[in-house]
Amino acid sequence: MRWSERQRAMLREIGIPPFWPEGPTTETDRPAPPATEGAAPTPASAQAPVVTPVPVRPAVPPPASSPAQGRPASARAAGGLSRATPPEVGLGARPAGIDTMDWATLREAVAGCRACSLCESRRQTVFGVGNPAADWMIVGEAPGEQEDREGEPFVGRAGQLLDRMLHALDLTRAEAAPARQVFIANVLKCRPPANRNPQPQEVSQCEPYLLRQMALVQPKVILAMGRFAVQSLLKTSEPIGKLRGRVHMVQGVPVVVTYHPAYLLRNPADKALAWADLCLAREVRAAAG
Ligand code: SF4
Repeated sequence: MRWSERQRAMLREIGIPPFWPEGPTTETDRPAPPATEGAAPTPASAQAPVVTPVPVRPAVPPPASSPAQGRPASARAAGGLSRATPPEVGLGARPAGIDTMDWATLREAVAGCRACSLCESRRQTVFGVGNPAADWMIVGEAPGEQEDREGEPFVGRAGQLLDRMLHALDLTRAEAAPARQVFIANVLKCRPPANRNPQPQEVSQCEPYLLRQMALVQPKVILAMGRFAVQSLLKTSEPIGKLRGRVHMVQGVPVVVTYHPAYLLRNPADKALAWADLCLAREVRAAAG
């Protein structure tokens, strides 16, 4: 992979030190990225990506860990969890026929959804933004306070970092052609109170909306960001460090996993790993034609 001066400038902007040699180089020229504490990072490779198919059904969400009341949104992404008792989750009926809804009907269904008790505390649902026919889909976890207020995923400092990461790949959430404008959505469309961790029942209730969004967008690659997004999409409890560096398949769409921007704000050393993940996703997108 060759690095343009613009890309180098973008890497500096998102805080990745230019630790590899200046001038044209390749992924394999670069030194191995630093290890992640408490995880098992997989070095990115320029070799043909390993593809791991993931069964979509049954929709068994990952075992959600205990809530952490009062933590900021960024703490959820860190995976540092308390051992408190899980909150009670009330469940309601989900609208019928989600898997055949068009965009307008799906948006309306989400806006009025009361299928789990998160509807009681949300200001508004956060449906998702971007190009409905985007080549790239970004999947995050759940709205935080600012997202709940503004009705858009990935806002605030984490959103700004995501925008810079996208910019480094010549992608944007602003209006553009499907090749450049991504579609961004969360696993959960409503904010968990005090940004506590999503509960398995909540993920299970909300998941059909995301799956329908994926089916409507038909992206060529999905970038899953953060532990809950990754684990719920891939139906696994493995940490991101063990899942990154290879390509997974969900509903026939290649999925590349990486860290949540909120986590990267607290762990800037791992931005280099995230950049390697973005490069892998770009290879996957390019290979899709
Ligand atoms: S989180 Fe999802 S399932 Fe629960 S009320 Fe909101 S939209 Fe419905």
